[in-house]
Amino acid sequence: MSADRGPRIALIGFRWDENSSFLRGPAEAPPLIRQAFASESSNSWSENGVELDPSLFFDAGDIGTGPGVDMPETIEKAIAHLLGRGLAPISLGGDHAITFPILRAFARKYPRLSILHFDAHPDIYDEFEGNRMSHACPFARIMEERLVQRLVQVGIRTVNAHQREQIARFGVEAIEMRHFRDDLTLAFDSPVYISFDMDGLDPAFAPGVSHREPGGLSTRQALDVIRRVRAPIVGADIVELNPRTDVSGMTAMVCGKLVKEIAGQMLGGTEEP
Ligand code: MN
Ligand code: MN
Repeated sequence: MSADRGPRIALIGFRWDENSSFLRGPAEAPPLIRQAFASESSNSWSENGVELDPSLFFDAGDIGTGPGVDMPETIEKAIAHLLGRGLAPISLGGDHAITFPILRAFARKYPRLSILHFDAHPDIYDEFEGNRMSHACPFARIMEERLVQRLVQVGIRTVNAHQREQIARFGVEAIEMRHFRDDLTLAFDSPVYISFDMDGLDPAFAPGVSHREPGGLSTRQALDVIRRVRAPIVGADIVELNPRTDVSGMTAMVCGKLVKEIAGQMLGGTEEP
C-alpha cells in the first residue's frame, strides 16, 4: 500500500454519552482509543499485512457537546464532510446513540448499505425510559428511516419480548449468541458499515463497558467474523468503551486493535478468505 496517496481513513471522536441509560463514561473514551491505537507496545501492521502508516489517516479530532450544541446534527454534518472528502470514517464513541446520525450521513452516499452490528443488545427499543434517542434505540431509528438495506447483529444475548417484536418488524438478522458458531461467515452484496459496541465481547475480554453482559464473543471470534467479510467496508464506529469501568486499559487496547484490523481490511490486504 503506497503511502503517497494521502489519507484514506478518517478518525473522528464523539465525546457524547448523554443518552446512556445506566452509567456515564463513554464520552471520555476517544482519546484513550487513539492512544491505544498508536501505542508503541505493538507494531503498526494489521494481521492481513497492511502497514498502517500515519499518512493513511486523517485525524478529524474530537467533537464534544456543550450548551446549545445539537449533537445529532453536528455528528451528521461532520461525517458527511469526511465522506465528501472521499475518506472512510472510523468513529470513536461515545455511546451507541452516535450511530443513528452517522448512518444518516452514510445513507446519502451509499443508498445500498448493510450494517454489521456487534453488540450484546439489539438496541432496537422503540423508546427507552421515554427517550427515543437512547443508546438502546439507534437501530429502531435507522430501520424506520430505511437508512440501510440490511442489518445483521452478532453477539446478541439480551432480547426481551418487545425487542423480539422489533427485530421481526424490521426484518433484522439477529444472530443470537446462543446460536453463534465459530465459522460464521456473512455474505454481503453491498458495502458494509461496522458498528461495534464493546459489550458485544465477553466482559472477560472487554470489562470496560457500562453494561457487562457475560456469555459474549471473544476478541478473536469477533475479528474472525470481520475478517471473513468480503464486501468493501466503508465505515465503522467503535462505541461504548467506558474508561471508568475499564481494568488497566484492557478494553481501550481492544478498541485500538479493532481500529487497526478494521482499517487494515478497509485498505485491503494480501489475505485470501
Ligand atoms: Mn450493548
Ligand atoms: Mn449498543
